[in-house]
Amino acid sequence: MRRHAQVRRYLVAFDTARLPQVFTDVVVLGSGVAAIRAALEMAPHLHVTLLTKSRLTESNSYYAQGGIAAAVAPPDTVEKHMADTLAAGCGLSDEAVVRQVVAAAPDCIRELVEWGAVFDQVDGRLSIAREGGHSAPRILHARGDETGKEITAALLARLKGQKTIDVREDAFAVDLLTAGQTVVGVLAWHAAQGLFVVRAGRTVLATGGVGRLYRETTNPEVTTGDGLAMAYRAGAVLADMEFIQFHPTTLYIAGAGRHLISETVRGEGGRLVDKAGRAFMADYHPMGDLAPRDVVSRAIIDHMRTTAETQVFLDLTHMGRNVRKRFPGMAKTCSEFGIDIAAERIPVRPSAHYMIGGVKVDAAGRASLPHLYACGEVASTGLHGANRLGSNSLLEGLVYGRLTGRQVMEELTGGSSRNPAETPERIHNGVRRSTRGELNLTDVHNSLRSVMWRNIGIVRTQEDLAEADALIEFWQSYVLDKVFDQPAGWELQNMLALGRLMAHAALLRTETRGVHYRSDYPERDDDHWLRHILTARDQEWRIE
Ligand SMILES: Cc1cc2nc3c(=O)[nH]c(=O)nc-3n(C[C@H](O)[C@H](O)[C@H](O)COP(=O)(O)OP(=O)(O)OC[C@H]3O[C@@H](n4cnc5c(N)ncnc54)[C@H](O)[C@@H]3O)c2cc1C
Repeated sequence: MRRHAQVRRYLVAFDTARLPQVFTDVVVLGSGVAAIRAALEMAPHLHVTLLTKSRLTESNSYYAQGGIAAAVAPPDTVEKHMADTLAAGCGLSDEAVVRQVVAAAPDCIRELVEWGAVFDQVDGRLSIAREGGHSAPRILHARGDETGKEITAALLARLKGQKTIDVREDAFAVDLLTAGQTVVGVLAWHAAQGLFVVRAGRTVLATGGVGRLYRETTNPEVTTGDGLAMAYRAGAVLADMEFIQFHPTTLYIAGAGRHLISETVRGEGGRLVDKAGRAFMADYHPMGDLAPRDVVSRAIIDHMRTTAETQVFLDLTHMGRNVRKRFPGMAKTCSEFGIDIAAERIPVRPSAHYMIGGVKVDAAGRASLPHLYACGEVASTGLHGANRLGSNSLLEGLVYGRLTGRQVMEELTGGSSRNPAETPERIHNGVRRSTRGELNLTDVHNSLRSVMWRNIGIVRTQEDLAEADALIEFWQSYVLDKVFDQPAGWELQNMLALGRLMAHAALLRTETRGVHYRSDYPERDDDHWLRHILTARDQEWRIE
C-alpha cells in the first residue's frame, strides 16, 4: 500500500532558540466544548494555555443546534441509549467506550446546569425531543435550536473565573513540536506576534473536524482539519478517515451560508417533500422521515436525480405557527431570505457535517505519541463506529474533554515530571523553498472542495475515488512544497494532506457500512471489514 511521502514533517522553517517561548503545564488547542471542558478539569491545579485560531466562540460547538443526547428520564435508560449508539455504529463502535460516554451523559447535563446552562422546559419539566436513530425522546435542547450557544456560554462563563487558564484568541497552531517521538508543545502563530512556541508538559488537541474540505458543508470556516493534519505530520496514528457524516438537510439558497436544519425538525413532524409536494421518504425506508441520517442523505440525492431537481424541501406548514418559536434560529435565518417557515417550504440539500475518523485515542484520550491527547471531533474514540447517532457529539466532546483533563491531571500531579520543557531541547527545522511560482490558494481550495464533494461524497465508487486521489496528489505536488507564512496557506496544505488520506481510506474499504456508501460494493461485508483502517506518516496503512 502506498505511502504519502509528500507530506513533510513541519510546514515552516523555524528555530525555537530564535522564537518567543511560553512555558506551561498543558497546552490545549481549540475552544469548542471539548477544549474548554478539558481546560476546566485541569484548573486550578495546572497552568493551562488555550490557543484558538479565531474568536473563542468560533467553533462547531457554538453553532450546534438540535441538542445533546442523554438518558435523563424514564422510560429511557442508559442501556437503550447504548443500544441505539451501537446500532448506528454498524459493528465498529467500541462497546466499552459507548458505555463510558453514554453513562456519563446525565452527569454532564447536571454539571452544565450547575454551571448555568438552561435547557428548554415545558410546564416546569425538561423538554426532551426525539431524533432519527434514537428509540426514545432523548435530546435536551436550549434556546429552541441554539443549544451550542447555551452550552458554550455556560462553559465560557466558568472559564472566565479561572486564573490558571491563559486564553489566546487568534493564535493559530501550525505544528506539534516533538523531541524524538514525544510531543513537547506547539509551534503557533499570531498576526501581531508572528511565530511563537508553547512548551508544554502535555498537549491536548481539540481542534474539531474537517467540514471545510467539502464544497457543501454545515461547518464554519475554522473547520479545516488542522489538528488532524498536525498530528499526522508528527507521526500520530489516525483512524477511520473514510467515515464522514453528511447532514441530510442544509438550507439551500444561493448566497446563503449552508445553514443546518436540525434533525429535530423531522423528529417533531417536519416532512421531506419534492417540488410536486410529494412526501418521498417512505419510498426509501420504513422509518420514513425518521430514517438514519445516511439513509436520508442518500434518499435525497437519489430523489433529486430521478426527479432531475437540484433540491428538495422541508415542509413544516402543517405544524402551525408555533414552529417559529420552537425553532427560532432557523425561523430567523429563513426569514432573512423571505421564507416564513410556518407558511412556506424550505429548500434543502445534504452537506458534509461531521468527521467520525480522527486521531486514534484510548479510553483516557491518549493518542499514540507520548504526551499527546485528543478529544472531541478531532479524536477517534470508538464511540461512533461507522455512523454517528445525532446529538452524541456534543456529549462525546464534553465527556472526553473531562476524561482527558483528568488523565493529564493524574499524570502531572502524580509525580511525573511536571514540565519536561524546563530544560528545553532546541528544535529547528529547515525547509527548502519551492522554486515554483505563485499560487492562487482560493482556486486550489475551491477545486479541492469540489472534488471532495463530487468524488468522496455521499455515494462513492472506485473510479471516482481513484480520480480524486490522483487529482489531490497532483495538487499536493505543487502546494505541499511551498512555505507559507499565513494561515490560509497552512490550512490549504492541511486540507490537501487530509483529502488524500480520506480518498485512500475510502478506496481501501471495499464495502458499504454506515456513512461510507460504495455503490460498487453496496453490501456490508462483516467477513472482511469488521475492522478499522489506520494510517500514520511514513508507515504502511494498517487494517485491524
Ligand atoms: C451547524 C452544526 C450543528 C450541529 N448540531 C449538533 C447538535 O445539535 N448536537 C450535537 O451533538 N452535535 C452537533 N454538531 C456537531 C458538534 O457541534 C461538533 O461535533 C462538536 O461541537 C465538536 O466539538 P469540538 O470541541 O471537538 O470542536 P469544535 O467545536 O469544532 O471546536 C474546534 C476549535 O478548534 C479551533 N481550531 C481549529 N484549528 C485550529 C488551529 N490550527 N489552531 C488553533 N485553534 C484551532 C477552532 O477555532 C475551534 O475553536 C453540529 C455541528 C454543526 C456544524
